[in-house]
Amino acid sequence: MNEQSNATAVPVTLINGDGIGPEVTGSARRIVDATGARIAWEEREAGAEIFKRGDPSGVPQDTIDSIARTRVALKGPLETPVGFGEKSANVTLRKLFETYANIRPARELPAVVTPYTGRGIDLVVIRENVEDLYAGIEHMQTPGVGQCLKLISRKGCEKIVRLAFEFARAEGRKSVACATKSNIMKLTEGLLKRTFEEIAPEYPDIESWHVIVDNCAHQLVKRPEQFDVIVTTNMNGDILSDLTSGLVGGLGFAPSANIGTEASIFEAVHGSAPKYAGKDTINPTAMIGAAVMMLHHIGLFDEASAIENALLVTLESGVATRDVLGDGGAAVGTTAFTDAIIGNLGQVSPSWQAREYRPLILPPSSPDPVAVHPANRRLVGVDVFLESGLLPLELGPSVERLTAGGPLQLKVVTNRGTVVYPPTGTPTDCVDAYQCRFLGTGTDEVDDAQIAALLTALAAEHRWGHIEKLHEFDGEPAFTKAQGES
Ligand code: NAD
Repeated sequence: MNEQSNATAVPVTLINGDGIGPEVTGSARRIVDATGARIAWEEREAGAEIFKRGDPSGVPQDTIDSIARTRVALKGPLETPVGFGEKSANVTLRKLFETYANIRPARELPAVVTPYTGRGIDLVVIRENVEDLYAGIEHMQTPGVGQCLKLISRKGCEKIVRLAFEFARAEGRKSVACATKSNIMKLTEGLLKRTFEEIAPEYPDIESWHVIVDNCAHQLVKRPEQFDVIVTTNMNGDILSDLTSGLVGGLGFAPSANIGTEASIFEAVHGSAPKYAGKDTINPTAMIGAAVMMLHHIGLFDEASAIENALLVTLESGVATRDVLGDGGAAVGTTAFTDAIIGNLGQVSPSWQAREYRPLILPPSSPDPVAVHPANRRLVGVDVFLESGLLPLELGPSVERLTAGGPLQLKVVTNRGTVVYPPTGTPTDCVDAYQCRFLGTGTDEVDDAQIAALLTALAAEHRWGHIEKLHEFDGEPAFTKAQGES
């Protein structure tokens, strides 16, 4: 028992969640309590019942207040209602508390047989958790064309990269790989790569390397043991971390931590698996693993280590749930599995070492908006996004006629990112959403009045939806060229 556990109990918000949630959180809570860890659990609600009561966020104020106070939550899975207009309660919680890092370890466990058994997989995916396509900024450009903004910030990249290196140090890990799709999305995914390469030299004790995310997926399947820590963007991380859970036995074994400066939320990667709810058959290991991560976070290292060892000893002894042993009769239920772990508290696995941890130093973060200031910036043009049922060879001349003689000249028209006007001779399957790229014709910087006049001219015959200003920062274009644009 360490000093902290003898002192005042640590308040933790406990959300039991939906479906199998109460079973897995119940198991984790019983095991944590059995270690003697002094936790003051504050039980709060979120999820399906809250949506049904008419709260469109799925997270009541009382729950938000509790997490704001305790700054630590252990959360069961929350059901996301399928339908229009409702946001996921999970995403709401992540965003409310700016839990910007999602940490998902995947480690080979004793007696959990997979095609990779014996390879010694022990890796962690650290996923940026609030930006990227999950910023949730989606629009229908036209009734038939949807768009989702992929927002990646320098501030967000710095936070996640620093956290990944600090995490590697806290766990005594050797390398951090940064997985991005920077070869295609140079300004968004590329921002993470550039930030990673700038910050990596500050951590000379950790090996660092970049890997294109599709190759990362390929490498993870071929030679997963080469990875230690992988840092990546939100969408990539979502997919890669499900893949890595699959390598070590599946969702029943995959814990995760959502780390933020103000609050951190610990949960299983899996969902509420409604068809198993209340059957006492599911595997609580993922949630137990999440509770172990939580204990590390609040500094209860002895208790965390006791649980990790008891879990390893239990699995080594062949005690496991149905997802591991199948329906043949040897599997135990959730309650019996939990009892076995509690019975093994205090034992140390002879063959599987529990990892040594040091406290994770969270990189400093400020709520102030962070601006990156180029030495010079210049507005050089504008992209106007139009809804039009015309063919490119009709639309292009029409736009040229409407804007002729103005200070902004049409350079190209694109459809889904490919140049369709001036004609390129290649067939493009068009939809009714076009991008018209205008560049300033003079040496002076383009200004807002010119853009407003351009839009007025276009609106005489076309329905424009939105614009993007085209800047140069420090002489470098702050926009990418369309496919086929010279
Ligand atoms: P799920 O993870 O709930 O279940 C998929 C399958 O995985 C199950 O049918 C089961 O075979 C297996 N499985 C999951 N957890 C297991 C466990 N602990 N032990 C043994 N087997 C387990 O995924 P789903 O069915 O796509 O989603 C159900 C609901 O959960 C949805 O409403 C979804 O939105 C929600 N969800 C919530 C979270 C979260 O709260 N973080 C995460 C994912 C999904």
